[in-house]
Amino acid sequence: MSYQKLVSELKRLHYLNSALDLLGWDEQVNLPKKSAAARASQSSALSDLIHRESIHPQVDDWLNALEQDPNALTTEQQCVVQEARRNFDRAVKLPSAFVARRAEHQSRAYHAWVEARKNDDFVSFAPFLKTQLELAREEAGFFGLDGLQAYDYHIDNHDPGMTASVIGTLFDSLKSEIVPLVKQILSSAVKPNLSMFKGFPIAQQEAFLKRVTASLGFDYDRGRLDVAVHPFCSGNGEDTRLTTRYFVDNPLDSLFSSIHETGHGLYEQGLPLEHLGTGLGTAAGMGVHESQSRIWENQVARSRSFWDYWEPFYREAFPEQLSGVTSEQLYLAVNGVSLNPIRVDSDEVTYNLHIILRFELEKCLFSGELDVVDLPAFWNEKAEKIIGLRPTSDVEGVLQDVHWSSGAFGYFPSYCLGNMLAAQLWYSALDALPGIEIDFSNGDFTRLLSWLREKVHCEGKRCDLMNLTKKVTGKELSSDSLIRYLKERYLPLYQQT
Ligand code: ZN
Repeated sequence: MSYQKLVSELKRLHYLNSALDLLGWDEQVNLPKKSAAARASQSSALSDLIHRESIHPQVDDWLNALEQDPNALTTEQQCVVQEARRNFDRAVKLPSAFVARRAEHQSRAYHAWVEARKNDDFVSFAPFLKTQLELAREEAGFFGLDGLQAYDYHIDNHDPGMTASVIGTLFDSLKSEIVPLVKQILSSAVKPNLSMFKGFPIAQQEAFLKRVTASLGFDYDRGRLDVAVHPFCSGNGEDTRLTTRYFVDNPLDSLFSSIHETGHGLYEQGLPLEHLGTGLGTAAGMGVHESQSRIWENQVARSRSFWDYWEPFYREAFPEQLSGVTSEQLYLAVNGVSLNPIRVDSDEVTYNLHIILRFELEKCLFSGELDVVDLPAFWNEKAEKIIGLRPTSDVEGVLQDVHWSSGAFGYFPSYCLGNMLAAQLWYSALDALPGIEIDFSNGDFTRLLSWLREKVHCEGKRCDLMNLTKKVTGKELSSDSLIRYLKERYLPLYQQT
């Protein structure tokens, strides 16, 4: 009986949480400027309510009863109980007043970031960021953790089981291979020409990318696509919200952002709906989530076979704009590699260096080596060293990402871990699904989606990132497949004469 009661309570909490999610989506998509303070109060009130409900002693009683006789539970039920216990223990140590204060500050800090970014004014954002960092430290402090252990706590919140030390080892080996690879590609005489992509009307861009994302399998009857400053995916399989942004003179940005967010959406839509709210219906972590967005954005949508199918339709949608662009120029633009100070505008090769930069900065922030006020200068110096490019403004540097404004420390590494897993999954899929790229050239993506559904989506949170990687690909998570994939895709392209 305790198990049924627990599951029905977890589902009720899931619906409360999804309402909070929806407020967050609305805040970034629809909110009138002067309504921001009211939204902060709404989010704070609802967060407080959810927190109180999720630490109700009754939940602890049910968990204790179930934990007394674990053998009476099926493996699936054990997974649900373990995940519920982890969440309960994490929530119960946080005072409700802290949770409400954090939610309220999160909303204010987000709007301060939007303004600061608009005005290239880090000084106005610095106090908000400083408070976010203090709140992050305070949160870890409730678990008796400080310094780099506090950073591990936040990493673990996004990717259960992961630590800064494991990530550091993975990133060191990645960096040692990526840096020379980037140099080799950039020294090529072959250069993408994005200046040819001008004057793409937004309505046609939207129509085209909706067609593409629907063909990948996104179900628009239980999801939608809107515009936001920073593309993201929120919601769950019952109601998945994707966002993108449009630039008339940079149509590939909105297309690939949308495909990326669609990958996240496909994962959410592929999680078993009947288990929503429990560990069996929850994503395994952000690294796995990113692997799902990356595999569609990069391995699939930047491939020749994908463009064999979509190029004629792209030309049909933009006949004049693409009239002077050859097929090879289009393919090279899709796979353009160049140094860019902005992470979200970076290609998939240099992107990894942006993440390594942020990981190193976060470590310094948590260890106390770096103060928030010194962040812009430190960022610029490190960017020059790691990426090979010095930002010319804070908008190009420390103000570019939304994450820290919402207190999401320890999130950035997930992007790179996701890139590694995506490449490992890609080679496993190529082995398991012979001729898959021929499917792509016929506009058919169903076999890959079904494989991901079965191997990754249906697993829910049964395994963490490391264990899922081993289970599905037969190998430990490493940078090997990512390096192999990048070399196989980019070196031939940039060796042309
Ligand atoms: Zn993503």
